Amino acid sequence: MSNFYDVLIIGGGVNGCSIAYQLSKRNIKVAVLEKTRVGAEASSAAAGMLGAQAEIKEKSPFFDFARQSRDMFPELVPELEEKSGVSVSFIKNGMLKVADSEMEKERLLEMLAFQKQEGEQVEWFTNRDIQDMERGITGDNFGGLYIRGDGQVKAAELTKAYARAAAFEGAEIYEDTPVLNILKENKKAIGVQTPAGAVYADKVVLAGGAWSNMTVSEEDQLPPLVPVKGECVSLRPVKPVIDTTLHASDFYLVPKPGGSIIIGATEHEGEMGKKVSAGAVQSLLSKAFSLVPDLQQAEWETAWTGVRPQTFDGKPYLGRSPIDGLWIAAGHYRNGILLSALTGKWMADLMEGKAEVQEWISAFSPQRTVIQKEGTPVDINH
Ligand SMILES: Cc1cc2nc3c(=O)[nH]c(=O)nc-3n(C[C@H](O)[C@H](O)[C@H](O)COP(=O)(O)OP(=O)(O)OC[C@H]3O[C@@H](n4cnc5c(N)ncnc54)[C@H](O)[C@@H]3O)c2cc1C
Repeated sequence: MSNFYDVLIIGGGVNGCSIAYQLSKRNIKVAVLEKTRVGAEASSAAAGMLGAQAEIKEKSPFFDFARQSRDMFPELVPELEEKSGVSVSFIKNGMLKVADSEMEKERLLEMLAFQKQEGEQVEWFTNRDIQDMERGITGDNFGGLYIRGDGQVKAAELTKAYARAAAFEGAEIYEDTPVLNILKENKKAIGVQTPAGAVYADKVVLAGGAWSNMTVSEEDQLPPLVPVKGECVSLRPVKPVIDTTLHASDFYLVPKPGGSIIIGATEHEGEMGKKVSAGAVQSLLSKAFSLVPDLQQAEWETAWTGVRPQTFDGKPYLGRSPIDGLWIAAGHYRNGILLSALTGKWMADLMEGKAEVQEWISAFSPQRTVIQKEGTPVDINH
């Protein structure tokens, strides 16, 4: 490892690796320091949905950022696959948001109206339409919102692809390299301490997912992050039961290329453990069986957990931290795979002083808590 880089990235998750890819493409000397393995945490636990329209029902900088990130995948994926040699299994199999109550139907109809107004491809499906399209759904529902253009990837492979494509462009990726703390001089971040010694950089990017705040001391007052543990299970049906991703109010079924179906996901705020509980498995399976009964004949594959990094307002922190020289790209909560494409590009633009969308600069600024508390805008683009 060299002693000095233009940019040091802490964390080899999907976002750290995407940033490394975009920076190294611009001939910036960059290294990623990952405490265990690339994609070891949330980025390999994700179901891989690129659901820009799945959960958002009003116009906001976040909606536009999410849509723009989703729209990058058709061009980005071939580029990454060619440079990395990793297939990320990107498919556009659509998403059906099934209403399981009158109230949910009302909510989805509002979402339909908003998204149509925004020019998105969405349709309302009756219960009959749903059963005609997906024969595996036999019970009665209250209709559903069909998002034709929605897609998915295999999340662990996408993370690997970013990392290898970044290495192809010249980035250095160091696994088994925990960052112990951030080195500062005159209140400016100048590098990091690892067990093997100090490494220096012009800029340090904290992309440590739910662990980001543990790498800095409390006095640095980084914005708050809450871990939200999630559990998923995977089944292999004996014959195909669904083709479309199904999203109900508190669970989803994602049919993956290759035949498995991921059922997710629980939400345990404040938890970081790796244990999968029997109750979580039971709850996910019984919800899945009630929507697609034939899944009861499927073969059991596996179950796992991951920890989502949640911010105080649900939007990621992307930009300068209150510490000079320290940047943050963390807090992507339930959408880090979807947002990874634009997160890489946006962070590279910000660090090069080329970021142009003022709305995003302030909406995602890690200093927005400061703005809220003091009520006066802070110049975050210097
Ligand atoms: C069950 C589940 C399902 C999900 N499904 C989806 C989905 O379908 N679609 C979607 O878009 N999103 C989904 N998500 C969310 C998504 O997984 C996350 O938002 C995303 O992976 C966060 O990526 P990250 O790179 O910011 O963090 P992480 O993937 O957690 O990566 C952070 C990395 O930093 C490393 N690190 C931390 N501290 C240090 C340190 N001090 N030194 C060195 N390395 C360090 C960690 O080891 C880790 O590898 C899901 C999440 C879960 C848990």
